Amino acid sequence: MLSSRHDVIIVGTGPAGLGAAFHLTAASPSLSILMIDREKICSGGLLNDCKQNYTYPIGFVVQNWTREEAERLLPRVEECLRPVIKEKKNLEIYRRRAERIGVTLLDVRQAHVGTDRSRELIRRLLDELAGRGVHFALEREVTDVFDDRAGPGVIVDGTETVRGGTVIVAPGRKGFSFLQQVMERMGIDYIDNEVDVGIRLETTLNNYPIVRDYYDPKFLFPERVRTFCTNSGHARVVLERYQGFSLVNGHALSEEHEGNNLVNFALLKTIGLKDPVRSGQQMAVFLGRLANEIGGGKPLMQRVGDFRMEKRSTAETFNEDLYSFPPSCPVTAGDLGLAVPAKIMRHIWAAMKKLDTIIPGILHPSTIMYYPEIKMYANKPSFIDRHFRVSENVYMIGDGAGTSRGITAAWASGIRAAEGILSRH
Ligand SMILES: Cc1cc2nc3c(=O)[nH]c(=O)nc-3n(C[C@H](O)[C@H](O)[C@H](O)COP(=O)(O)OP(=O)(O)OC[C@H]3O[C@@H](n4cnc5c(N)ncnc54)[C@H](O)[C@@H]3O)c2cc1C
Repeated sequence: MLSSRHDVIIVGTGPAGLGAAFHLTAASPSLSILMIDREKICSGGLLNDCKQNYTYPIGFVVQNWTREEAERLLPRVEECLRPVIKEKKNLEIYRRRAERIGVTLLDVRQAHVGTDRSRELIRRLLDELAGRGVHFALEREVTDVFDDRAGPGVIVDGTETVRGGTVIVAPGRKGFSFLQQVMERMGIDYIDNEVDVGIRLETTLNNYPIVRDYYDPKFLFPERVRTFCTNSGHARVVLERYQGFSLVNGHALSEEHEGNNLVNFALLKTIGLKDPVRSGQQMAVFLGRLANEIGGGKPLMQRVGDFRMEKRSTAETFNEDLYSFPPSCPVTAGDLGLAVPAKIMRHIWAAMKKLDTIIPGILHPSTIMYYPEIKMYANKPSFIDRHFRVSENVYMIGDGAGTSRGITAAWASGIRAAEGILSRH
């Protein structure tokens, strides 16, 4: 049984919720705060790989963030997460090569914790908050949020009502449907008109040596294609399961581990939807299901060599006699051309050719293309103010509410909501 009233209730213990809690407890130690999460430990990127980017606009949704706002808050994020920033080398050389062919290479301040060490970081953050008097209700699911005449609150596990002075909802990408249901019930307008669709490439370190100089290089190509989430050293492609289909993603352990000499990263194309198809979520589900249908219930993989010859990959293509490394995530060998919409494939392939010109190697026949990698997180509510308030006493933040696309921006969103709460009370 949870105590029935708190000054602030935060749904979600991911970086957005934590950012809000750290700021509120630092600025106003007497506030009573309850954080609720349906998992034992927060489930997003803070736990998986945990690459932290400290440069605008990486991870920030530019419609909601100016450079000044982001740069004001990023140092505060750093104070709490205490990153060890990675050094970069030879940036000018790569940058010059990229600029010559119309590609931008961003210089991003980055830190990488690794999936194996991220739990320690999360534990430290939760312990610090507990030390400041924050209450936690873990493995409890918020099934509804309301803001009525008697004030706001949440329903936990479908039965228990907990009231608060303010509610911050930060359920992340996986809370997409939950957030939509809450917004529909509360009469909050929202748009969901963007989606990132792409592939994940896996190759050997020798074919993408830039990662020795720059851990997660951010290239921006024409047609809204970009590199995303590079993992190297002890790196793996992984599956993310959704209802009825799986998507691919990638992660890596910290550098202390002996490497497997593989690199993986995504090439994503951002798609802005207009009438009559307006839901990024629907498009993601449709494309995800199509790919999994063709893959017999799994995502697809194809070697670059086969793709170039317009030939499907087969189990034999993945035989080590022919090619230099086995896939770290063996899914169904097939033909991406049957599953990826033509325009998306064309723009991604054009980006791959440009990337191979900047860093020769990625188009080696052994490179594996995995599909689908899709980011569905733009559930943008109409906000009442600059602090992501959606009703009198409810705020919606983080990847689920489309205020961020990464750990540091999610954390900064939490600070912005907390500032709003403090300024009103
Ligand atoms: C596999 C993976 C790897 C990633 N790697 C990186 C990376 O290296 N670097 C980076 O910057 N970003 C990465 N990201 C993106 C990153 O996770 C997000 O940008 C960030 O975590 C968003 O923070 P958030 O607080 O909005 O949501 P989340 O971190 O997703 O946290 C939301 C929390 O809310 C909880 N929740 C959801 N619904 C409910 C409910 N109804 N009741 C109670 N609790 C609920 C969830 O269990 C979760 O713990 C990755 C994402 C994934 C999925």
